[in-house]
Amino acid sequence: MWIDISRSLHEGMEVFPGDSEFQYSKELDMNKGSTVNTGVFKMNTHTGTHLDAPYHYDIYGKKINELDINEVCGKAEVFDLTGLEAVAEECIKEKISGRTEIILFRLKEKGTAFSTYPPFTASAVKALADRGVRVIGVDTPSVDPATSEELPAHHMCRTKNMLILEGLNLEGIKEGTYELAAMPLNLFEADGSPVRAALRQWR
Ligand SMILES: [Zn+2]
Repeated sequence: MWIDISRSLHEGMEVFPGDSEFQYSKELDMNKGSTVNTGVFKMNTHTGTHLDAPYHYDIYGKKINELDINEVCGKAEVFDLTGLEAVAEECIKEKISGRTEIILFRLKEKGTAFSTYPPFTASAVKALADRGVRVIGVDTPSVDPATSEELPAHHMCRTKNMLILEGLNLEGIKEGTYELAAMPLNLFEADGSPVRAALRQWR
């Protein structure tokens, strides 16, 4: 059975500081005599559970429609690192032996917490790359601090050709080996996309 690890998209949801609010409204409304209901939504590409395309932090990087969806589907390991102030190289070396290309990190006990969350150091990202990791997933809004302008963790991902899934909901997910599916929309030329991310036990 698949377990949904994506966040609900709704008006009033928390967004990255400075980003547009999520908006949804009806275009056609059966209550107003339309033959069907349709809606219009507006959102930042980094709202909720989403995949960063390398183009997000590299003007020559791949755009979301240029990524292979197989890169964000497959065997994944979940590690619980809740309670840390930052994810440093040492905790990667201690915890991760390098068996799986997709690693999801549970970093927060609850909620999305845009005000404070543990970022990754560049050397932690490099240590993951050295262990063969190709995709880093986090239940925080970013792998860098919200106020960072240098984005060291994002740029290490760029250098090492790694993808970043952000804003996962890993509440109640235990450490272990799973199968992940987290497909982005086929959004032409986009720098990121919401994903419906789900896990199921690895068989
Ligand atoms: Zn992002």
